[in-house]
Amino acid sequence: MRELHVNEVRAAVARMVIDANCCIGEGMLTCLEQCRDREEKTLSRNVLDMIVRNDRLAEERMVAMCQDTGMAVFRVQVGQEIHFVGGSLDQAIHDGTAQGYEEGYLRKSVVGEPLFDRVNTRNNTPAVIYYEFVPGDQLHITFAPKGFGSENMSVVKMLKPADGVDGVLNFVVEAVKNAGPNPCPPIVVGVGIGGTFEKAAQLSKFALMRDVGSHNEDPRYAALEDELMERINALAIGPAGLGGKTTALGVHVEWFPTHIAGLPVAVNLCCHAYRHSSVTL
Ligand code: SF4
Repeated sequence: MRELHVNEVRAAVARMVIDANCCIGEGMLTCLEQCRDREEKTLSRNVLDMIVRNDRLAEERMVAMCQDTGMAVFRVQVGQEIHFVGGSLDQAIHDGTAQGYEEGYLRKSVVGEPLFDRVNTRNNTPAVIYYEFVPGDQLHITFAPKGFGSENMSVVKMLKPADGVDGVLNFVVEAVKNAGPNPCPPIVVGVGIGGTFEKAAQLSKFALMRDVGSHNEDPRYAALEDELMERINALAIGPAGLGGKTTALGVHVEWFPTHIAGLPVAVNLCCHAYRHSSVTL
């Protein structure tokens, strides 16, 4: 067994929180620039140019690229040969989140109870944490701060198996169309197909942790991603919802086995502030 002190996890999480909120990464910047160069309308080009300049400035000055610094979402892959020492892994991730949001001057957006009180917890915790156990002795953490302009436009539906590929295509395109300008386009579209009601939603969230524009390794799902991308961009919602060629920067589909009687589909939208960081300890 390999020993890993939870203080190492807390410190890494604090750094990841700041990095993700301030540095969008070269992959996203290149994608945004390419989309800007393809736009024909001056207005659409200008919006994408402002987004690129904003993101570069954020990284240069290490300030948040958007005022909505999101709810903290983590995917944590735990090597089964790790023995954590010094306290609770779960608490270390929450503590690291609080530390990062404080030290990075990032807005705290979490309310402690969702319906009656809605009082801000003032440290952006608790985080939403998904754990998986994997072979080996390494801990891999991916962090994605999730803005709620786009989260609010996400949907899950239990389709019937007979709805098939066309049913999935129509449902996803309709979800983006109904969202219109609200999720701060251009967006990245995460789609989860299969599993159960909540598994489909989790898959769609994990789809949004992939590099922008990456493809599913199954060629049938990769083709589905391409077709969705084409149909979504044909909606011409465009940058900031002002029209144009770029409604989506990427469509990522993830799938899981499901029941013979069902075809769950979830669509999780992410805005142009497509932010991530990851670490392996
Ligand atoms: S949806 Fe994204 S771009 Fe829009 S306000 Fe929230 S974090 Fe910012």
